[in-house]
Amino acid sequence: MNQEFIEIRGARENNLKNVSLRIPKRKITIFTGVSGSGKSSIVFDTIATEAQRQLNENFSMFIRNFLPKYAQPHADAIENLSMAIVVDQRRLGGNSHSTLGTITDISPVLRLLFSRVGHPHIGNSNAFSFNDPQGMCPECNGIGKKMGVVADSFLDMSKSLNEGAVQVPVFATWEKSSYASSGFFDNDKKLSDFTNEEMDLLLYGKNLKFKLQIGGGTMNATYLGIIEKFEKSYIKRDIKTLSERTQKTVAPYIALRPCPSCNGARLSQAALGCRIDGKNIAEMSAMEVSELVPLIKQIKDPLATSMVITLSERLQHLVDIGLEYLSLDRETTTLSGGESQRVKMVKHLSSSLIDVMYIFDEPSVGLHPRDVHRLNELLGKLRDKGNTVIVVEHDPDVIKVADHIVDVGPHAGSKGGNIVFEGSFADLVKADTLTGRHIKQSLPLKKKSRKPLGKLSVKNARINNLHNVSVDIPTGVLTVVTGVAGSGKSSLINHVFLKQHPKAIVIDQSAVGTSTRSNPATYTGVMDDVRKAFAKENGVSASLFSFNSQGACPNCQGLGVIYTDLAFMDGIKTPCEICEGKRFKEEVLAYKLDGKSISDILEMTVLQALDYFTQKDILHKLQAMSDVGLDYLTLGQPLSTLSGGECQRIKLASELHKKGSVYVLDEPTTGLHMSDITHLLSIMNRLVDAGNTMIVIEHNLDVIKNADWIIDMGPDGGTKGGSVVFEGTPVDLLGAKGSITSSYLKAASG
Ligand code: ADP
Ligand code: ADP
Ligand code: ZN
Ligand code: ZN
Repeated sequence: MNQEFIEIRGARENNLKNVSLRIPKRKITIFTGVSGSGKSSIVFDTIATEAQRQLNENFSMFIRNFLPKYAQPHADAIENLSMAIVVDQRRLGGNSHSTLGTITDISPVLRLLFSRVGHPHIGNSNAFSFNDPQGMCPECNGIGKKMGVVADSFLDMSKSLNEGAVQVPVFATWEKSSYASSGFFDNDKKLSDFTNEEMDLLLYGKNLKFKLQIGGGTMNATYLGIIEKFEKSYIKRDIKTLSERTQKTVAPYIALRPCPSCNGARLSQAALGCRIDGKNIAEMSAMEVSELVPLIKQIKDPLATSMVITLSERLQHLVDIGLEYLSLDRETTTLSGGESQRVKMVKHLSSSLIDVMYIFDEPSVGLHPRDVHRLNELLGKLRDKGNTVIVVEHDPDVIKVADHIVDVGPHAGSKGGNIVFEGSFADLVKADTLTGRHIKQSLPLKKKSRKPLGKLSVKNARINNLHNVSVDIPTGVLTVVTGVAGSGKSSLINHVFLKQHPKAIVIDQSAVGTSTRSNPATYTGVMDDVRKAFAKENGVSASLFSFNSQGACPNCQGLGVIYTDLAFMDGIKTPCEICEGKRFKEEVLAYKLDGKSISDILEMTVLQALDYFTQKDILHKLQAMSDVGLDYLTLGQPLSTLSGGECQRIKLASELHKKGSVYVLDEPTTGLHMSDITHLLSIMNRLVDAGNTMIVIEHNLDVIKNADWIIDMGPDGGTKGGSVVFEGTPVDLLGAKGSITSSYLKAASG
């Protein structure tokens, strides 16, 4: 029998309040709601986890021992699940051998094509694989790169040898001074005045005899130029034999360079000599997908027919999802989170699985409004193949295509965890929920822009697709960098701007806190103040109230929980029996501050703590957390449980008191509900009003409308992008020609 609904009853993971709901099968269901409302707790921690766990139960105990372990979610019942495939934004791992072509299974077909119809024939398809000894370049073993020295920072060209021009940090002092004492150079001549021959000798001279002056005496020595010496000591030997400290010191000076033999193409000379229509397989793999498609389609050799069909179809999937600006040889480790997710999506489109549950985490991340419809079509295709599609998403343009919408709320944390709406988009618009209200009204376009205080220039940016871009970024204002995916926004800001202006502070969504014991209280510094207050009140040492002190529960080491890894069963996390999750020894818990123990305080939310404390320092730090919309977190919640968006906001909270800094944010609206975005904008505006500079890469139109200054990259992605197509205020962008962003801004400004 075909069960029509996934049934969930009494779900209680994290903040969920006994949630029961039915999700239609073989339809698109979208979960929405403010950040922290409980969407992930339902979709990932309950549905996906249970599906994985049930799947694992099908295997023998022996096999299960090798599988990841899933604890049973807190719920009364979860029924009618299918196999779950989670398509998230985790970067595609792998090594340099993993490329867009290999991960989408396009490269094997291309190799087959070359082995069948390439001229001249050189063997089977393995002879075209850089992962196979038959095909790989023997010089670099198919990596395409070899280690080399980055020498720029070794020398201060404005100095002479006597003034200390040689600055290689790993060389001993006597090694550095040996160049001056060699007698080969004019030691008072500035390096910038050196002839080419002198420079060559300084860097690459080899095996010349000279008398080294050392400790007042001399000894016979062999001269080695700076680069030669560096290579001999640090590159031509196994790096693992160096001490960890030395490895760290030399790392910035060693870089991968294109392999001199294959020029980065990774393949043997035989493979590179084999061509179809004048192009070898490395050249085809380096082309943008949008240019490769027509080239493949025009191959008319009857021997190639089936391969041409397969290739065209798979490449078209990449075009359909908006990745046509990538090339097949692009290493997967260099793809952004949004690109990684779309690549994974493509993999599933070509698969013949049916009746599985596809679970997506904000698939619109990184997509320009222009390309959202492509995502929608893809979700539709997956559904029409007979799959259940479950999506966590905030973008109204995606929410629109849902067959069914679940709105979680009403607010975040303990004030969330309920289903506040279920139904169609038409009904959501009428619903009196945060989502319903925000979907009707978008923010107004900023009419009065701030006056810049100054400017930061980017000069001659040429990395990736950038066409020698020089641009000024105004300071003391909010600048938004826009443009379709692949237009060059992150190349310009993350690669070039940050290199030229290294003092800028990047506020990203990466994890905060390094220890399992970090929590909002320790991260913001509130914990120190609290410990001192406890110590003063009770006349004991402040260190007693630390998780890694004598005062911590010895059974769980202050974690409050015990992790048990059972060999043949799912691993489990149980509250510590000794302290009952309170983390401290009983005698420590006996000390009180206004009637509360240290454990009571860690269980308070930021909001409750604001009510309880009176100390100025503490209130100040708590208020910053509240200002970034995190008042629902408890002071003791492990930071490892925060989402990317929450991590980003807690970092912002710790910056709120600063002045004169430059901040760079890459798509800060990721994971944020429309109402969260209003909040984020007010925080950014506060930081700008305090004299800071904000540079934000964004697609979200509400953020773009609130910019003081916009830099629009384009006109399109990949080789069709890489230029600044517009600089100016939002009002001016409305009238700009040749900007894709302009037309979407116009549409959204009604
Ligand atoms: P959303 O996906 O809607 O942003 P989540 O489901 O991630 O929300 O979080 C719901 C609430 O549960 C938030 O207050 C969050 O901080 C909290 N939470 C999430 N994971 C954990 C966890 N592992 N332990 C404790 N609290 C958690
Ligand atoms: P955006 O940030 O606007 O999406 P990017 O700056 O990431 O654009 O990309 C601009 C172009 O540079 C694209 O064609 C992209 O494929 C290419 N590119 C980006 N990063 C790399 C990289 N690490 N290696 C090779 N090409 C890259
Ligand atoms: Zn090579
Ligand atoms: Zn304990």
